[in-house]
Amino acid sequence: MKRLKHTCSLCLWAFSAFTAGAWADPQEMPCQRNRLMEQWLDKQTPRWNRQLAVIDGFEAPGGIEICLAQSGSPRADYTANRIWLRYLDYEEDRRSLAHEYLHLAFKHSPRALDEAFIEATARQILEGDV
Ligand SMILES: [Zn+2]
Repeated sequence: MKRLKHTCSLCLWAFSAFTAGAWADPQEMPCQRNRLMEQWLDKQTPRWNRQLAVIDGFEAPGGIEICLAQSGSPRADYTANRIWLRYLDYEEDRRSLAHEYLHLAFKHSPRALDEAFIEATARQILEGDV
């Protein structure tokens, strides 16, 4: 009996978590912040910003929030200064983070729309990463 009750409450929890995710408007989603990722980003940005300072249109974006996305590709919210990210794996998440960071860093420049530039620059700033 005890076991059954446990299973059912777990089902109910999973079900409500699922429906909450499925019905929520992505714009209305509350930001569930990932402090570990934010700390990692904070450690990288002084070095990245020094490398990026020579590139036209660069502006260091301060106070970025990293939020857990339920679905979709990583994306940057230019207005809220947020990066939405699903968690895949260590390497992939850091690549995505560098990429979205650059979108925010060049948001006042046409370069923000240049995916080839963003991707190439993301690879460059990650090269020194160990
Ligand atoms: Zn992009």
